[in-house]
Amino acid sequence: MSILSCAHVHTTYCDGKTPAKDMAKRADELGFVSLGFTSHAPQTFDPGYCIPPEQEEAYKAEIRALRAEYAGRMTVYLGVERDLYSCCSTEGYDFFIASVHYFPRPDGHHSPVDATPEKLRQYVETECGGDGLKMAKQYFTMLRDYVLSSHAPIIGHYDLPQKNNAVLHLYDEESPAYQKLTLDCLRPLADTGALLEVNTGAMARGYLSTPYPSPTLLKAWKEWGGEVIVNSDCHDARYLTTGFEEAEALLLSLGYDHAVRLGRDTLWERFALAGR
Ligand SMILES: [Zn+2]
Ligand SMILES: [Zn+2]
Repeated sequence: MSILSCAHVHTTYCDGKTPAKDMAKRADELGFVSLGFTSHAPQTFDPGYCIPPEQEEAYKAEIRALRAEYAGRMTVYLGVERDLYSCCSTEGYDFFIASVHYFPRPDGHHSPVDATPEKLRQYVETECGGDGLKMAKQYFTMLRDYVLSSHAPIIGHYDLPQKNNAVLHLYDEESPAYQKLTLDCLRPLADTGALLEVNTGAMARGYLSTPYPSPTLLKAWKEWGGEVIVNSDCHDARYLTTGFEEAEALLLSLGYDHAVRLGRDTLWERFALAGR
Protein backbone atom coordinates (compact mmCIF):
# COMPACT_ATOMS: atom_id res chain seq x y z
CA MET A 1 0.00 0.00 0.00
CA SER A 2 1.63 3.18 -1.20
CA ILE A 3 -0.93 5.85 -0.37
CA LEU A 4 0.46 6.81 3.10
CA SER A 5 -1.58 9.98 3.36
CA CYS A 6 -5.13 11.14 3.86
CA ALA A 7 -6.46 14.58 3.01
CA HIS A 8 -9.94 14.06 4.45
CA VAL A 9 -9.90 13.65 8.22
CA HIS A 10 -12.48 14.75 10.79
CA THR A 11 -11.90 15.35 14.49
CA THR A 12 -13.83 16.00 17.69
CA TYR A 13 -14.04 19.66 16.56
CA CYS A 14 -16.88 18.44 14.29
CA ASP A 15 -18.58 15.03 14.11
CA GLY A 16 -15.38 12.97 14.32
CA LYS A 17 -14.75 10.59 17.21
CA THR A 18 -10.97 11.03 17.50
CA PRO A 19 -9.18 14.12 18.86
CA ALA A 20 -6.80 15.74 16.35
CA LYS A 21 -3.67 14.84 18.34
CA ASP A 22 -4.61 11.13 18.43
CA MET A 23 -5.36 11.15 14.71
CA ALA A 24 -1.92 12.62 13.98
CA LYS A 25 -0.31 10.04 16.25
CA ARG A 26 -2.05 7.21 14.39
CA ALA A 27 -1.01 8.59 10.99
CA ASP A 28 2.59 8.88 12.17
CA GLU A 29 2.52 5.27 13.45
CA LEU A 30 1.32 4.17 10.01
CA GLY A 31 4.29 5.92 8.39
CA PHE A 32 2.26 8.60 6.64
CA VAL A 33 4.19 11.23 4.69
CA SER A 34 1.38 13.75 5.20
CA LEU A 35 -2.00 14.26 6.84
CA GLY A 36 -4.68 16.83 6.02
CA PHE A 37 -7.26 17.74 8.66
CA THR A 38 -10.62 18.71 7.20
CA SER A 39 -13.24 19.14 9.89
CA HIS A 40 -16.63 20.30 8.60
CA ALA A 41 -16.60 24.07 8.14
CA PRO A 42 -18.77 26.15 10.47
CA GLN A 43 -22.33 26.76 9.30
CA THR A 44 -25.52 28.18 10.74
CA PHE A 45 -27.53 24.97 11.21
CA ASP A 46 -26.95 21.30 12.18
CA PRO A 47 -24.46 22.41 14.88
CA GLY A 48 -23.49 18.92 16.07
CA TYR A 49 -22.03 18.23 12.67
CA CYS A 50 -19.60 21.10 12.07
CA ILE A 51 -16.94 23.14 13.89
CA PRO A 52 -18.79 25.56 16.18
CA PRO A 53 -17.97 29.05 14.79
CA GLU A 54 -16.49 30.09 18.14
CA GLN A 55 -14.06 27.14 17.99
CA GLU A 56 -12.70 27.74 14.51
CA GLU A 57 -9.64 29.62 15.74
CA ALA A 58 -8.89 26.89 18.31
CA TYR A 59 -9.13 24.29 15.53
CA LYS A 60 -6.71 26.22 13.35
CA ALA A 61 -4.29 26.74 16.26
CA GLU A 62 -4.27 23.07 17.25
CA ILE A 63 -3.62 21.85 13.70
CA ARG A 64 -0.83 24.39 13.28
CA ALA A 65 0.71 23.16 16.55
CA LEU A 66 0.55 19.58 15.24
CA ARG A 67 2.26 20.72 12.05
CA ALA A 68 5.15 22.05 14.15
CA GLU A 69 5.22 18.93 16.34
CA TYR A 70 5.53 16.52 13.41
CA ALA A 71 7.73 18.71 11.19
CA GLY A 72 10.44 16.64 9.47
CA ARG A 73 8.55 13.35 9.94
CA MET A 74 5.07 13.93 8.55
CA THR A 75 3.69 17.11 7.02
CA VAL A 76 0.43 18.15 8.66
CA TYR A 77 -1.92 20.40 6.68
CA LEU A 78 -4.75 22.61 7.86
CA GLY A 79 -7.77 22.00 5.66
CA VAL A 80 -11.53 22.17 5.94
CA GLU A 81 -14.43 20.35 4.29
CA ARG A 82 -16.80 23.00 2.97
CA ASP A 83 -20.20 22.88 1.41
CA LEU A 84 -22.61 25.39 -0.03
CA TYR A 85 -23.73 26.44 3.45
CA SER A 86 -20.33 26.94 5.09
CA CYS A 87 -20.02 30.34 6.68
CA CYS A 88 -16.25 30.58 7.27
CA SER A 89 -13.84 31.90 4.67
CA THR A 90 -11.04 29.83 3.15
CA GLU A 91 -8.48 32.29 4.51
CA GLY A 92 -5.75 30.69 6.60
CA TYR A 93 -6.45 27.19 5.33
CA ASP A 94 -3.96 25.27 3.20
CA PHE A 95 -6.71 23.66 1.11
CA PHE A 96 -10.37 22.69 1.20
CA ILE A 97 -12.70 19.99 -0.04
CA ALA A 98 -15.93 20.95 -1.82
CA SER A 99 -18.84 18.67 -0.91
CA VAL A 100 -22.62 18.73 -0.95
CA HIS A 101 -24.29 17.42 2.23
CA TYR A 102 -27.72 19.11 2.18
CA PHE A 103 -30.65 19.92 -0.07
CA PRO A 104 -32.31 23.31 0.50
CA ARG A 105 -36.03 23.05 1.24
CA PRO A 106 -38.72 25.59 0.40
CA ASP A 107 -39.43 26.09 4.13
CA GLY A 108 -35.88 27.43 4.61
CA HIS A 109 -34.61 24.27 6.33
CA HIS A 110 -32.20 21.70 4.86
CA SER A 111 -32.42 17.95 4.29
CA PRO A 112 -29.24 15.90 4.69
CA VAL A 113 -28.02 13.75 1.80
CA ASP A 114 -26.14 11.13 3.79
CA ALA A 115 -27.66 11.09 7.26
CA THR A 116 -30.24 8.33 7.85
CA PRO A 117 -31.88 6.67 4.81
CA GLU A 118 -35.21 7.73 6.31
CA LYS A 119 -34.35 11.42 6.02
CA LEU A 120 -33.38 11.08 2.37
CA ARG A 121 -36.50 9.04 1.61
CA GLN A 122 -38.64 11.74 3.25
CA TYR A 123 -36.97 14.44 1.15
CA VAL A 124 -37.57 12.49 -2.08
CA GLU A 125 -41.22 11.99 -1.16
CA THR A 126 -42.01 15.52 -0.08
CA GLU A 127 -39.84 17.59 -2.44
CA CYS A 128 -39.24 15.36 -5.48
CA GLY A 129 -42.68 13.73 -5.85
CA GLY A 130 -41.12 10.37 -5.01
CA ASP A 131 -38.74 10.61 -7.99
CA GLY A 132 -35.28 9.48 -6.84
CA LEU A 133 -33.67 10.45 -10.12
CA LYS A 134 -34.93 14.00 -9.66
CA MET A 135 -33.17 14.11 -6.29
CA ALA A 136 -29.98 12.76 -7.89
CA LYS A 137 -30.19 15.45 -10.57
CA GLN A 138 -30.45 18.17 -7.91
CA TYR A 139 -27.51 16.72 -6.01
CA PHE A 140 -25.11 16.35 -8.96
CA THR A 141 -26.06 19.74 -10.41
CA MET A 142 -25.44 21.45 -7.06
CA LEU A 143 -22.09 19.72 -6.62
CA ARG A 144 -20.96 20.53 -10.18
CA ASP A 145 -21.90 24.19 -9.78
CA TYR A 146 -20.31 24.42 -6.34
CA VAL A 147 -16.98 22.96 -7.51
CA LEU A 148 -16.97 25.29 -10.52
CA SER A 149 -17.79 28.43 -8.54
CA SER A 150 -15.50 27.69 -5.57
CA HIS A 151 -12.45 26.62 -7.63
CA ALA A 152 -12.10 23.70 -5.23
CA PRO A 153 -8.91 21.63 -5.28
CA ILE A 154 -10.77 18.44 -4.25
CA ILE A 155 -14.23 17.16 -5.27
CA GLY A 156 -15.58 15.45 -2.11
CA HIS A 157 -17.36 12.06 -2.31
CA TYR A 158 -18.80 12.68 -5.79
CA ASP A 159 -21.63 10.15 -5.78
CA LEU A 160 -22.58 10.42 -2.11
CA PRO A 161 -26.34 9.59 -2.56
CA GLN A 162 -25.17 6.07 -3.45
CA LYS A 163 -24.63 5.43 0.27
CA ASN A 164 -28.34 5.61 1.08
CA ASN A 165 -29.46 4.41 -2.33
CA ALA A 166 -27.85 1.06 -1.54
CA VAL A 167 -30.64 0.63 1.03
CA LEU A 168 -33.46 2.70 -0.46
CA HIS A 169 -33.19 1.89 -4.19
CA LEU A 170 -34.52 5.34 -5.07
CA TYR A 171 -33.03 5.13 -8.56
CA ASP A 172 -31.32 2.53 -10.72
CA GLU A 173 -27.57 3.21 -10.72
CA GLU A 174 -27.22 1.17 -13.91
CA SER A 175 -29.90 3.04 -15.86
CA PRO A 176 -28.75 5.06 -18.89
CA ALA A 177 -30.46 8.17 -17.47
CA TYR A 178 -28.49 8.00 -14.20
CA GLN A 179 -25.21 7.17 -15.94
CA LYS A 180 -25.64 10.09 -18.34
CA LEU A 181 -26.49 12.46 -15.48
CA THR A 182 -23.42 11.57 -13.43
CA LEU A 183 -21.08 11.66 -16.42
CA ASP A 184 -22.50 14.95 -17.77
CA CYS A 185 -22.09 16.68 -14.40
CA LEU A 186 -18.57 15.33 -13.92
CA ARG A 187 -17.26 16.17 -17.39
CA PRO A 188 -16.77 19.96 -16.93
CA LEU A 189 -14.94 19.36 -13.64
CA ALA A 190 -12.12 17.48 -15.37
CA ASP A 191 -11.04 20.71 -17.04
CA THR A 192 -10.70 22.59 -13.73
CA GLY A 193 -7.73 20.57 -12.46
CA ALA A 194 -9.67 19.56 -9.32
CA LEU A 195 -8.76 16.18 -7.85
CA LEU A 196 -11.57 13.62 -7.88
CA GLU A 197 -11.72 12.02 -4.46
CA VAL A 198 -11.82 8.23 -4.25
CA ASN A 199 -13.58 8.09 -0.89
CA THR A 200 -13.52 4.91 1.22
CA GLY A 201 -15.46 6.38 4.17
CA ALA A 202 -18.65 4.40 3.55
CA MET A 203 -16.55 1.19 3.59
CA ALA A 204 -15.15 2.04 7.03
CA ARG A 205 -18.66 2.68 8.32
CA GLY A 206 -20.05 -0.50 6.74
CA TYR A 207 -22.46 1.11 4.24
CA LEU A 208 -20.72 0.08 1.02
CA SER A 209 -18.19 -2.57 0.03
CA THR A 210 -16.52 -0.39 -2.62
CA PRO A 211 -15.31 3.22 -2.66
CA TYR A 212 -17.14 5.96 -4.50
CA PRO A 213 -17.08 7.16 -7.26
CA SER A 214 -18.17 4.18 -9.35
CA PRO A 215 -15.69 2.47 -11.70
CA THR A 216 -17.61 3.92 -14.67
CA LEU A 217 -16.96 7.45 -13.46
CA LEU A 218 -13.34 6.75 -12.57
CA LYS A 219 -12.73 5.28 -16.00
CA ALA A 220 -14.24 8.29 -17.74
CA TRP A 221 -12.27 10.66 -15.47
CA LYS A 222 -9.05 9.00 -16.54
CA GLU A 223 -9.97 9.29 -20.22
CA TRP A 224 -10.57 13.01 -19.67
CA GLY A 225 -7.11 13.40 -18.16
CA GLY A 226 -8.30 13.88 -14.57
CA GLU A 227 -6.26 13.16 -11.43
CA VAL A 228 -7.48 11.28 -8.33
CA ILE A 229 -6.79 11.38 -4.59
CA VAL A 230 -7.65 8.49 -2.22
CA ASN A 231 -9.16 9.50 1.12
CA SER A 232 -10.86 7.60 3.93
CA ASP A 233 -13.07 10.53 5.12
CA CYS A 234 -11.89 9.36 8.52
CA HIS A 235 -14.04 10.00 11.59
CA ASP A 236 -12.30 7.40 13.80
CA ALA A 237 -8.52 6.83 13.85
CA ARG A 238 -9.00 3.04 13.88
CA TYR A 239 -10.19 3.30 10.27
CA LEU A 240 -7.68 5.79 8.88
CA THR A 241 -6.63 3.49 6.01
CA THR A 242 -9.73 1.31 5.70
CA GLY A 243 -10.41 0.59 2.04
CA PHE A 244 -7.09 1.99 0.82
CA GLU A 245 -5.84 -1.35 -0.51
CA GLU A 246 -9.14 -1.95 -2.32
CA ALA A 247 -9.11 1.57 -3.75
CA GLU A 248 -5.53 1.21 -4.94
CA ALA A 249 -6.32 -2.15 -6.59
CA LEU A 250 -9.41 -0.66 -8.22
CA LEU A 251 -7.45 2.27 -9.64
CA LEU A 252 -4.74 -0.05 -10.98
CA SER A 253 -7.39 -2.25 -12.61
CA LEU A 254 -8.82 0.83 -14.34
CA GLY A 255 -5.43 1.77 -15.78
CA TYR A 256 -4.33 4.43 -13.30
CA ASP A 257 -0.61 4.17 -12.56
CA HIS A 258 -0.45 7.10 -10.13
CA ALA A 259 -2.56 9.20 -7.83
CA VAL A 260 -2.05 12.50 -6.01
CA ARG A 261 -1.64 13.06 -2.27
CA LEU A 262 -0.67 15.89 0.05
CA GLY A 263 3.08 16.15 -0.33
CA ARG A 264 5.87 16.02 2.17
CA ASP A 265 7.44 19.17 0.72
CA THR A 266 4.85 20.57 -1.71
CA LEU A 267 1.11 20.88 -1.19
CA TRP A 268 0.36 18.16 -3.77
CA GLU A 269 2.57 15.38 -5.09
CA ARG A 270 2.05 12.52 -7.51
CA PHE A 271 3.05 9.04 -6.39
CA ALA A 272 3.10 5.65 -8.13
CA LEU A 273 0.38 3.15 -7.26
CA ALA A 274 1.99 -0.13 -6.36
CA GLY A 275 -0.74 -2.49 -5.21
CA ARG A 276 -0.19 -5.05 -2.47
ZN1 LIG B 1 -18.56 15.06 3.49
ZN1 LIG C 1 -15.93 14.29 5.36
